[in-house]
This record gives sequence, C-alpha cells and structure tokens, in this order.
Amino acid sequence: MATLIERVGNIHIHTEYSDGTGTHADVADAAAEAGLDFIVITDHNVYPPEQEGWRSRVLVLVGEEIHDPEAPHVNHLLVLGARADLAHLSGDTQALLDAAAARDGLAFLAHPYERAGQAVGEGAINWVAWGVHGYTGLEIWNYMSEFKGLLSSRLVALALAYLPRLGIRGPFPETLQQWDALLARGEVVFGIGGADAHAQEYAMGPLRRRVFGYRHLFRAVNTHILVPEEWTGLLTHDGVLVYEALAAGRAFVAYDGLADARGFRFTAEDDVDSRPMGSTVPAWRGLALRVEAPHPAYLRIIRHGEVVAEAEGRTLVHPNPLPGAYRAEAHLRHALRPRGWIFSNPIFVRPAPEHRVDTHAEPTA
Ligand SMILES: [Zn+2]
Ligand SMILES: [Zn+2]
Repeated sequence: MATLIERVGNIHIHTEYSDGTGTHADVADAAAEAGLDFIVITDHNVYPPEQEGWRSRVLVLVGEEIHDPEAPHVNHLLVLGARADLAHLSGDTQALLDAAAARDGLAFLAHPYERAGQAVGEGAINWVAWGVHGYTGLEIWNYMSEFKGLLSSRLVALALAYLPRLGIRGPFPETLQQWDALLARGEVVFGIGGADAHAQEYAMGPLRRRVFGYRHLFRAVNTHILVPEEWTGLLTHDGVLVYEALAAGRAFVAYDGLADARGFRFTAEDDVDSRPMGSTVPAWRGLALRVEAPHPAYLRIIRHGEVVAEAEGRTLVHPNPLPGAYRAEAHLRHALRPRGWIFSNPIFVRPAPEHRVDTHAEPTA
C-alpha cells in the first residue's frame, strides 16, 4: 500500500447553533491554534452546510448529532457526510440509520456508555437501542463525557477543572467490552474519539470556570486518520478523504493532551505488503501484526477482549495471528497511574483460502 498521510482532527463539537458557546469561526481558530488539520462540527438536531469550508487552514466539515426527541433524550447518533438534515427521523433510530446509509453517510453511536456527573447534576445519556443495525461504529472515547463522569463532588470537580490530566484514564471499560463483543461476533464496527466540545461554564460554589475552552479540548482526545492523498483545498474532495478514512477504519483515537500521538501505526505485514488498521487480511504464513508508537509506552494487542501480545517500548510484533479481529492500545504513566493514550481500529485476519500457491512454502520431504 502506498504511503499514507496522517491528519489529526476532532469529530464531536458543538457551537452556538445548539448548546456550544462558540461560532464556527471561533471553533476553527481554536482548532488551528491546537494544530488540528480538520474538524467535524456536530450540533444537536441541526445541519447548517453553509458553515463548511476551509477556515484558518483547518478543514471544517459539518455533521449532525441526532437524539431521541422525548426525554431523557438518549441514543445520541453522530451522522457524518450524509449531506442532509436527518433530524426529522430522530424518533425512529433504525429509519435514521437506514436514511444515513442510503445517502452514503456514516453513523457513530455517541458516548454509548456514560456515567452521571453528580457534582454538576448531569445524568448519564447512554445508547440504549442496541438492537439496531447498519451503523459505522462507536465513539469509543468522549473526553467531556469521561470528564463529567469524574465529577463526584464539588471539590473533585474544582480540582479537575484545573488539572484534568489527573482524572482522565481512557475509554470506559464497558464501551471497550461492547466493542470487543461486537468484533468477536464478526461485525465490522469502527471507533472514533472526540471532545464533545461545548466550552460552557460551570458554576462550582463561588467560582465559575469555563470547562474547557475549545483550544484545550482540541488538545485532548482526537481522531487521527490515514489518507492516500494530499489536500486539494476543494471542500468536497477533501471531505471525502476524511469520510473514506473513517468509513474504512483507517483511524485511531488518541489523547494528544498526554503526548502527541502522531506517528502511531498498527499494521499487518508480510514480506511484500503492509496494510493499515481497518484492513482485512488473509492469515498467510509470514503474516505479523505490528504496533509502532512515537514514544515508549505499554503496548498491547487485543483479540476479542483478550490480550494476545504486550510489551513496554516503541514496538510490538505479534507473528502468525489466528483469524479474528485485532486492535492495539498504548498506555502511558502520568502522575503515578497508567493512562489510556492510543486506541487503534481493528485489523481483521480472515482464514487463508485453501488453494493459494504459496511461494514461501518449505519443501515437504
Ligand atoms: Zn451527545
Ligand atoms: Zn455532543
């Protein structure tokens, strides 16, 4: 496969079109300051395509976060690239997914498992419609959702508002378990991560604190994609590069606020080829799965919820994988605790076809 170009973006963002505080221009400026290449703005049940374009050297795309119309407003769905407002289908999740798919849109279940934020009086807003089908994947790591779940008391909330890295640990285990269970069943389900950026203020006793500004949020949990071409500066073409990468799972989720994750790769290799995350590869003899990290970390490869290889360092190789779905993780220590840093999309190893002419076969006696 030709060399792929890495782009870093944030996918789950609110503006003043719904319950965020910034304009599209403010958000684009903050993304540029944070060094992002692209953002996808997903306001609640509203789709303003006229806000798309290149702004401040950042590709600004517009999707939509659609949720149940009735309280408690569960089932938040991120619809990307459908090029239409689908909020009128919010009361029928399967019809919504079907309509998104019919328009070549992507659909990710947003913050599928949440925890209530006791100190700020916010309940958990989970995905509950697990019987539906036809979605692209899960939002495996939502920075503000994780942060909310940490707010057990006002004191904790106040401390973490200033030192969030002390609290952030990684995707919720129940989300990863659900992802692994879907992958173990043979489903092709990809992961994304995002800020769920609102940049709103919280009142905590006598203090008010903006938790957090967009610039901070864009240096937290991001989605890195691998694309086969340079940007052209044309909105439609460049948007397709982003959506194709997400649809193919050529992406990983990283907490760049802990350490810059650019350069991470999870590949399937044999002596002729190297395939990126998201690929399906036959279990040829000589196949190996390889993790490369930009900084030394605790690396592991997981198949259907089980760790099958692990190492400290910048490289991990797992030779001769059995058929199954494999994903990779990297963890770093910060303030005496291991923290989730990078979560890759899976590589699918399929049984090798029986009649391959195997040029590497050892001679049989
Ligand atoms: Zn939501
Ligand atoms: Zn949201």
